[in-house]
Amino acid sequence: MNHLDLSRRLAAVGEFVPAKARLADIGSDHAYLPVALMLKGKIEFAVAGEVVKGPFESAQKQVRKDGLEGRIIVRLANGLAAIEPSDEITAITIAGMGGALIRDILEAGKTRLTQKERLILQPNIGERTLRVWLEENQYQIIEEVILEENKKIYEIIVAEKATSPVTYSPEDLMFGPLLRKTKNAIFKAKWQRELAQREAIVQQMIQANKGAEISERQQTFEAEIKQIQEVLK
Ligand code: SAM
Repeated sequence: MNHLDLSRRLAAVGEFVPAKARLADIGSDHAYLPVALMLKGKIEFAVAGEVVKGPFESAQKQVRKDGLEGRIIVRLANGLAAIEPSDEITAITIAGMGGALIRDILEAGKTRLTQKERLILQPNIGERTLRVWLEENQYQIIEEVILEENKKIYEIIVAEKATSPVTYSPEDLMFGPLLRKTKNAIFKAKWQRELAQREAIVQQMIQANKGAEISERQQTFEAEIKQIQEVLK
């Protein structure tokens, strides 16, 4: 991939980074996102944080290749430990990981947050887990996007610290408070797929179970099937 030519997914993440932001991109394999945004003149400064040496070196190489060393600092660090107070970060992107890992990174790095930063999160799976963390930590979901690339469906969640407690319903947490209102074609395709998977699992459970008491796991799946059927109506 050319560093200016971001994937649709990463380009969509970049759309939510405010102009003139001071960005921290956490898990910044190759630093593609900060480099592309800097070359476009969208951001002022960036930290590219990576915990693994190989991707960290790739990020360093990319930043050097584009002559951006002064404006993009690449740090080998775990999660938000890449951020220093003097960076004066205004936006954080964490993309291309599971929702539970993004949640763990935010939770472990809470003390590094000034709470003024915009969070732009792109979990590959486990969106509900991440929304629960945002609710518990009083972050308002201000934008949500669902998109498809190479037959994979991705969600992007944009959140900012709220001034009063945030509450989401079980449906908001599962489907996304904004996505479940717009219900576009990609949203419907995702949840049709999720529904079919759960129905197949429950069928297998019923066959394996043969008259025994319904397990808690089966009950959970059955409840989710009802929720999905409802949202798809
Ligand atoms: N953000 C890029 C994207 O969306 O295309 C790269 C995604 S890549 C699949 C995930 C990257 O996150 C890997 O390079 C991995 O080493 C890094 N990573 C995982 N856990 C991390 C952590 N706790 N702190 C920093 N980086 C992490």
